[in-house]
Amino acid sequence: MNKFGLYLHIPFCVKKCAYCDFLSAPADEAMRERYVSALVREISMQPPQSIDSIFFGGGTPSVLTAAQTERILDAVYARHSMEQDAEITTECNPATADFNQLSAYRKMGINRLSIGVQSFCDAELKLLGRVHDSAAAKACITDAKKAGFENINLDLMSGIPKQTVESFEENLHIALSYEPTHISAYSLIVEPDTPFEKLYADGRDLPDEDAERTMYARTGEILDAHGFVHYEISNYAKSGFESRHNLKYWHCSPYLAAGLGAHGFDGSVRTENVRDLTQYLRMLEGGKAPIAQQTKLTQADLASEYIMMALRLKEGISLSAFFEKFGYDFYEAHKKKLELYIQNGFMVCKDGRIAFTKKGIQVSNSILCELI
Ligand code: SF4
Repeated sequence: MNKFGLYLHIPFCVKKCAYCDFLSAPADEAMRERYVSALVREISMQPPQSIDSIFFGGGTPSVLTAAQTERILDAVYARHSMEQDAEITTECNPATADFNQLSAYRKMGINRLSIGVQSFCDAELKLLGRVHDSAAAKACITDAKKAGFENINLDLMSGIPKQTVESFEENLHIALSYEPTHISAYSLIVEPDTPFEKLYADGRDLPDEDAERTMYARTGEILDAHGFVHYEISNYAKSGFESRHNLKYWHCSPYLAAGLGAHGFDGSVRTENVRDLTQYLRMLEGGKAPIAQQTKLTQADLASEYIMMALRLKEGISLSAFFEKFGYDFYEAHKKKLELYIQNGFMVCKDGRIAFTKKGIQVSNSILCELI
């Protein structure tokens, strides 16, 4: 039976980054304390499950004190049954996690750290509106290791305004010198309603498509040469250090979620929480689950979602597993298109699995749109 994951959303940040459209904002200590109490209450209302991964995401989970984080984890342990070897990750911002906090995380059972580095170049960090500099990121990684973290992800960003292929490669090499077990390398997207939209919607100062493609290709080559497996479009891991929690999303496995705007999935029903902080707090303080909507997915919805998520993975789709799940042959159903992609080197079908090739990953979005 599938074990559940649990996503916990902490919607607070020290300051909003200029490119960010996540559900997060600065908040004072009183508000953070009120939120933790509400979150603890929400967890106590969840259906008890057997859990093998927890992920504190945000926002910036490290703006909470260690004691607040521990209160949340205690609520999870009290409500759910935890697998012995559960993966427990927290995201952290280098500006908000010192050695004492990181040591406290290890002591309370957090065993994976995802550090939002983005860049080791101070000019790039400043432009992004990050609250930390490169020295803080380096100190955070060193402190995390000293505190006993052996499983560390570094988030890096490509496509930053004025970034060159050379400065991006330099970031990768500095990241590698700290020997992380996992690297997530996302390309910057200029989102609507962010300060970046006003500045860069016309593409000014952004690396052009060729440069972006080169950064992506070089990420794969450099990390491959250092023993990383490119296991998902934007994620690279040393063998055995793939993110168990994120694999649940890509495998469409069930996961619970708690917190503002968080959404969970039990295998057929998607549950979304309210996105308004005042409403979230009031509902929980009044003893009500903060659910905005629940959607029962049809078999066709589930199949589309599965195709979209599983094809993000290097392993791609197992044709027999797909048949078992959805009762039809994925290859036969899309034969004409798939054979065209295979002939043109965008996809490969081998050992009963179909997946993108390196060339195909570069255009995966448009292929996925055509397939779905
Ligand atoms: S720290 Fe992360 S969540 Fe917070 S504003 Fe910056 S990008 Fe957004």
